[in-house]
Amino acid sequence: MADSLVPTGTGGQLPPQPGDAHWMGAALEQARAAAQAGEVPVGAVVVRDGQIVGRGFNHPIGAHDPSAHAEIEALRNAAKRLGNYRLDGCTLYVTLEPCAMCAGAILHARLDRVVWGAAEPRTGAGGSVLDLFAQAALNHHTAVTAGVLEDEAAALLTAFFGQRRVQQKQQALASHPLRDDALRTPDALFAPALDCGCPSCFYSDWPALGGLRLHAKDSAGQNPAPSDAARQWLLLPGLPAQQGLFRELAAGLAARGDRVVAPDWLGLGRSDKPKKDQRLGDAQQLAMLQDLIQHLHLGGEQGLVIVAHGDAARLAQALVLQQAALGKPVQGLWLINPPNAAAPSADYRLWLEQVARKPALDIAAALGRSAMGDEMDADRQQWAAQFPDKGYRAGLRAWARDALAGLDAPVMAPAASAQALPVLVSLGEQARWWPAPADGLDAWLAAVATAAGSAGPLAWQRCAGGDWLPLQNSAALLQASGFFEAGAKPAALGLVAAALR
Ligand SMILES: [Zn+2]
Repeated sequence: MADSLVPTGTGGQLPPQPGDAHWMGAALEQARAAAQAGEVPVGAVVVRDGQIVGRGFNHPIGAHDPSAHAEIEALRNAAKRLGNYRLDGCTLYVTLEPCAMCAGAILHARLDRVVWGAAEPRTGAGGSVLDLFAQAALNHHTAVTAGVLEDEAAALLTAFFGQRRVQQKQQALASHPLRDDALRTPDALFAPALDCGCPSCFYSDWPALGGLRLHAKDSAGQNPAPSDAARQWLLLPGLPAQQGLFRELAAGLAARGDRVVAPDWLGLGRSDKPKKDQRLGDAQQLAMLQDLIQHLHLGGEQGLVIVAHGDAARLAQALVLQQAALGKPVQGLWLINPPNAAAPSADYRLWLEQVARKPALDIAAALGRSAMGDEMDADRQQWAAQFPDKGYRAGLRAWARDALAGLDAPVMAPAASAQALPVLVSLGEQARWWPAPADGLDAWLAAVATAAGSAGPLAWQRCAGGDWLPLQNSAALLQASGFFEAGAKPAALGLVAAALR
């Protein structure tokens, strides 16, 4: 006589029974608990006589246990509670089709029936990859019901994997490997309040970077798509300032719908810092800017304006010439507090010489000799703190080396250019490192423009503030930025139009 409790043949496929959706809801709750724990969201419950007698959720990562699947956990839980390793009369509800391991455990436990939600096309042992429940040769047979609340179960998985992909992408972005011969200032040393407000973007795979991580603030975000919808501003700080020097100007420009990009120079800010200064110099910084313009799709219809503060001017002038030579001319050059290379101030020359020769220079104190003011104390401390010790200063030393070479080199006018490039110069009335020349202003302005190969138009402004105008008088700068609009009238913007000759 056959034992009526042990079905003969395979358990077979059963249609959903009354109450299945209810119990599957309890299994979904377990699946959500798995997601909360950062595990793939699969949950299970064991039901007997209208009562839940076991619960479990998938957590192999947290448990360091490859067998910690939801089904196994729920079966263990039920067997313990019932004091029996056999679970006759029980039904297992699980949100995902069981794998081979779990199907085996279900058969060993002699469950009456297993009910699942979503199919698992890669590992499912209930028919998707193989069907252990349909093996007539096995001595116990469990009936199966598939597809109960499958949409809910699948949605939970889709949401989880979507979220995890986003997280992994963010982690990958943040974990550009650090070269052995470079250093990276910990993020915690940078105060977000002193940054440009737009997203931080990191790149390390452009040729000119040589594996160093570049940090740039970009209102279009990481890996922007090509777009010529807005005017673009490339903001270049003079050292030792970082992109945050432009936070007020950048906010004002971005508020108009313009694209704003402000990189940290290699060796500065959140960009990687080579340990040796020989590797780094104007040539690599220029190549970096060229990569940046290309990969971030700057230029095009509306045009790119290069904005350089302080002694970033020499690189901006070189960049303008370089882009013209490449047949991709920029549409404007704006020099804020440009140095007088032919007759540099004593304070500026002293700063460069100290950086080049005194490895332990107190940077915050040295900055006190520029026209900076107490309102910039937080920035001054930040610019000093980006170098946790002297080993981080190779980029700063390389910059000073190349800046000094530029001051001592004979002034050479570039080949005459017919490029009608608008050039704007903003001068701080109280500047000490980078003051306007006491006399011969017109000739100096003309030299600044022709050094970038520009044949005008040329305009300038003198405004309240010192050597760090982007933070000291962003209102005057924002008004002046209208100079680069088509048909702008310099006088209406508080600017003085200057003649090139
Ligand atoms: Zn499993």
